[in-house]
Amino acid sequence: MHFSNDFPFLYDYFNSAIKKGTVPNSILFFGKDFNAQYEIALEIARRLNCKTDGSENCECLNCKWIKEGTHPAILTISRKDNKPADDESKTVISVKQANLIKSNLSTTSEFHRVFILCDRDNDGNIAPVNRLNFQEEASNALLKITEEGKNVTFIFITENKEDVLQTILSRSQAFFVPSKSDYDYNFSIIDGVFTNYRNILRADAFDTAEQLQNLSQKHSDLEIINSIQNYILFCLKSNPNDRTYIKDLEVTEDAKNQLRLGINSAGIYENICLKLIK
Ligand SMILES: [Zn+2]
Repeated sequence: MHFSNDFPFLYDYFNSAIKKGTVPNSILFFGKDFNAQYEIALEIARRLNCKTDGSENCECLNCKWIKEGTHPAILTISRKDNKPADDESKTVISVKQANLIKSNLSTTSEFHRVFILCDRDNDGNIAPVNRLNFQEEASNALLKITEEGKNVTFIFITENKEDVLQTILSRSQAFFVPSKSDYDYNFSIIDGVFTNYRNILRADAFDTAEQLQNLSQKHSDLEIINSIQNYILFCLKSNPNDRTYIKDLEVTEDAKNQLRLGINSAGIYENICLKLIK
């Protein structure tokens, strides 16, 4: 993964937040590319702690430790990582782990501490937290500490925003991380129908939905929605600070989920048009 090239809109946002010192206490990433989410989390941690200018090839001690995975203040918290010695839970992030974080935070530190909450599959690959591996009791224990303290950031790796408790979601800033394998900036399918959608009149929203629906005679609904998503990503590339595009991306991601659930595509296109055409 190359943060600035692959995710320019997230890169710009976090770059300026780090410079301004306004990185949120609690960040939630969602999407299907968990490795990308995890690597972005590490990059944010690295930039927050770098002793020089944060450049990617920096060799300062903090950058070196983070790249090696040995930094004392950057901790991965999962049912398999960073368990206290007396913790016998194997299937969940435990209350004991939440307490470990709490006691860690009760000491002062010269670092900007970052806790990355995720899961791992049997092969050790990064996987998302959900209601099974990160249950209510531990979530509540952690919730109390996510709002405390300066120079502390919690980052949640998830597939869907709703996979954490509502109380955690509402205290976090959520960012959709598109799967790199899903996009190539190719939006030829919807060219002329949905391109420049910000200029389409609200009164024409239903008409546009119908035109999208007509495209499905030649293309699958997934191809059409991916094409819309590609177009929004293309817009974001040139306007990385335009947060509305990021919200729009979430609408297309929701649409893909609805498609998987078997929801009628005419309804999906109408929903996209009503949400994106203003
Ligand atoms: Zn550095």
